[in-house]
Amino acid sequence: MSESANLTSFICKWLGTHSDPQHLETEEKLRNHIIQHDINSCKRSISGDSIYICPWKGCNKYQSSIIKLEEHLRQHTQ
Ligand SMILES: [Zn+2]
Ligand SMILES: [Zn+2]
Repeated sequence: MSESANLTSFICKWLGTHSDPQHLETEEKLRNHIIQHDINSCKRSISGDSIYICPWKGCNKYQSSIIKLEEHLRQHTQ
């Protein structure tokens, strides 16, 4: 019962897949959790152009490619 500290440090706020934030114990677990999400589901088409909307709760940014969105998502998992 002594390892309950810092449970709030690593949180997945990927909306759509789970409505409530998921708490992970370590950064590694969070990253392994994140890659199970379907990043392709973030794709949107606007006027023929594809953009990738960040699925993070409270983040309204979007990127022009899936690579850039992956890079952007790292900001949320640090
Ligand atoms: Zn998640
Ligand atoms: Zn974001």
